[in-house]
Amino acid sequence: MSGRNHYGARPYARRRRTGRCARCQETKRLQARGCCGACYEALRKTGDHIDYDRVHRSSEDLLVDYEHLRSAGLAHDQIAARLGYANGNSLTATLWHARRRVQAVAA
Ligand SMILES: [Zn+2]
Repeated sequence: MSGRNHYGARPYARRRRTGRCARCQETKRLQARGCCGACYEALRKTGDHIDYDRVHRSSEDLLVDYEHLRSAGLAHDQIAARLGYANGNSLTATLWHARRRVQAVAA
């Protein structure tokens, strides 16, 4: 098993962090807040996901940390690793959400 698809890139699913889900306790790929995709979706529909702790820092803290590391000369992927993200793509997605969230609060 090479772990790579025929484009030479690792399939996204393989890079996703695996761990024990905080809700169903099964070892699965984790989606958000320490929960697997199915549990997180179920929690999000009812709004109960706020009862589960965030795995990473708040939106504001993330943006501050990111800008700080960026100005220190680190590359995006290095920052992702430093901040504990599985890869650069998950950091990119999180930054996108963080910026929207912060703008929504400021507006
Ligand atoms: Zn679960």
